[in-house]
Amino acid sequence: MLENNIKKLIENLKNNLSTISNLDEMDGLWKKYFGNKGSIKLILKEIKDLSSENKKIIAPLIQQHYKNALDLFKNRENLLKTDKLCKNLESQSEDLDYFTPKIGHLHPISRTIREMNNLFVSMGFSIMDGPEIEKDEYCFQRLNVPLDHPARDMQDTIYIKEPDYLLRTQTSSIEARTLANYKPPFKIVSPGRVYRNETVNKSNHFIFHHYQGLVVVEKTSLKDLFGTFNVLFQKMYGQDVVVRYRNKYYPEVEPGVGPDMQCFNCHGKGCSLCKGVGWIEMGGAGIVHPNVMKKAGIDTKKWMGFAFGLGLDRWVMAKYKITDIRTLLGGNLGYKYYENENII
Ligand SMILES: [Zn+2]
Repeated sequence: MLENNIKKLIENLKNNLSTISNLDEMDGLWKKYFGNKGSIKLILKEIKDLSSENKKIIAPLIQQHYKNALDLFKNRENLLKTDKLCKNLESQSEDLDYFTPKIGHLHPISRTIREMNNLFVSMGFSIMDGPEIEKDEYCFQRLNVPLDHPARDMQDTIYIKEPDYLLRTQTSSIEARTLANYKPPFKIVSPGRVYRNETVNKSNHFIFHHYQGLVVVEKTSLKDLFGTFNVLFQKMYGQDVVVRYRNKYYPEVEPGVGPDMQCFNCHGKGCSLCKGVGWIEMGGAGIVHPNVMKKAGIDTKKWMGFAFGLGLDRWVMAKYKITDIRTLLGGNLGYKYYENENII
């Protein structure tokens, strides 16, 4: 008797499942059949009223029918979920949350890149990308560093195939590619991984990150560059951040400057992180050298620009009070991070 009843209910369930078209309706169906007062669940509860002889025979059969009914339900539910996922992907909707575990957080490097990207996009910049295995031409020659230039000694390059292919030592290569392929005016930023043959220690790594910026317009000056830096420093570290600028030499700019930020670890007193000077170099910048523009076929009488390259890892370390660069690429992920930052 019980077995016939459950078989009938399973037939009804099959009919109901075939007409259902969304996950909300599945909830109702679950309550109807499998909830505490659901009809299939009630049959399970009736097993206990059977005589012990009948129980031995009937109970396993009912359990098997119950399992089959559950499988029918779950299969239909999975189909509807996949269907919803496909529709969301097709519509470019970002509502894919129901398969995402709610644990963990983005790596501090990713968070910092996204935070900077958001700021620069709000100021009208576009985000550009470029290859990590780069040609010598884009990493050096187009940036005013010919083959025999002494500036090459400043960077210990890792070559893939000498002399033409290397792992980029700086994201200025994206600057060179942008200048070669786009007509001014433009404002771009490009975050990326860079490589140099450095000994790994507390403040150096052979893999690190740059954040490049390039603005090419009809008229600009160092004032615009400093203004951009001031907005960036204050956004990242607050209004009280202490920054100084120094003259610097980089072949791709003239004049060249570099921002230093007061050391976050010792607040200017001097410590091992800032090598006793109280300041941390945060990047290099300057007015784009006319040779760089000319190599890209850009008329220097009409256009001029400024460029900057930030040592992104240092920005991340200062933001998250990380005192050893190796932490960023290591396995210990116990960083401090700001729960309330709304960065996605
Ligand atoms: Zn210090």
